[in-house]
Amino acid sequence: MQAMLLENHAPIESSPLKLKQLPTPQPGSKQVRIKIHCCAICRTDLHVIEGDLPQAQLPIIPGHQIVGRVDAVGEGCNRLKLGERVGVAWLRYTCGRCQYCHTKRENLCEQARFTGYHEPGGYAEHTTVDEAFVYRIPESFSDVAATPLLCAGIIGYRALARSQLPLQGKLAIFGFGSSAHMVIQLAKHRGCEVYVITRGESHRQLAEKMGATWVGANTEDFPTKVHSAIIFAPAGELIPTALAILDKGGTLAVAGIHMTSIPPLDYTRHLFYERDLRSVTANTRDDGMALFEAAAAIPIRAQTTTYKLAEANQALQDLKADRINGTGVLQVC
Ligand SMILES: [Zn+2]
Ligand SMILES: [Zn+2]
Repeated sequence: MQAMLLENHAPIESSPLKLKQLPTPQPGSKQVRIKIHCCAICRTDLHVIEGDLPQAQLPIIPGHQIVGRVDAVGEGCNRLKLGERVGVAWLRYTCGRCQYCHTKRENLCEQARFTGYHEPGGYAEHTTVDEAFVYRIPESFSDVAATPLLCAGIIGYRALARSQLPLQGKLAIFGFGSSAHMVIQLAKHRGCEVYVITRGESHRQLAEKMGATWVGANTEDFPTKVHSAIIFAPAGELIPTALAILDKGGTLAVAGIHMTSIPPLDYTRHLFYERDLRSVTANTRDDGMALFEAAAAIPIRAQTTTYKLAEANQALQDLKADRINGTGVLQVC
């Protein structure tokens, strides 16, 4: 099979992903093999490639928003059949035995393994995965339209839950990439007002088009206090900024997997009055299923830009430079 392989961590500008011919994987026990149709790109892929995350497996095929069809079934599978259209997300394995797995927090499992990080991902023609970690894709989504739901959508869904946004509440979003443009749809569906702070001019235009109540490049003229805020940009300096616009009792959820240093906080300005600062770590399979249900009901529409598999370096360079509106998707076949 063809795959875009990373052998050494390097800045994406040096095009470190190389198109390789690799053996097509065979599914193991309770695994299925998926013929990949497309795979969305994500900021986490950039962090994996550039070496920002610890313990990355090398060489690795990145990509964790995979849509395709089951084309081989391993021994002992009873959930999926040949030909079913399915998706694979970031969460790829959990132990099922630890205190976190036992308390519906498998996203915190000590032995969790992730797609395109610990195990081969979707920048390829095939992948194999335990059938228990595969999602069925609702009919109403095309392959390309479904890919962003698998990370941008699922993480957006969990970030929104962690932000404790009340019905008809006010939500501020920092950064308007692919997750944020899912969250605005989820939040507006719940009758909420959404305020978007993002440095990219085209991202501000998209946020306005998608019904943001207020859009700005920073919070200098921010018009209100909000119940909840979510930071998607990997910029630690935004944390005090976001805490300062929270209403009493408000919650800030930080959605990034990686973040630059956080400046010192001032207790009275940033935290007192029971403001909460919380992170978001991966997702559970329950989050994934709940997101797909909500996405089909709303229905969530993802804005996408497609690239060929061999253009993965270019796609990620565009992502890093904020040149993509919505989500970039590699069309594999
Ligand atoms: Zn576990
Ligand atoms: Zn992702």
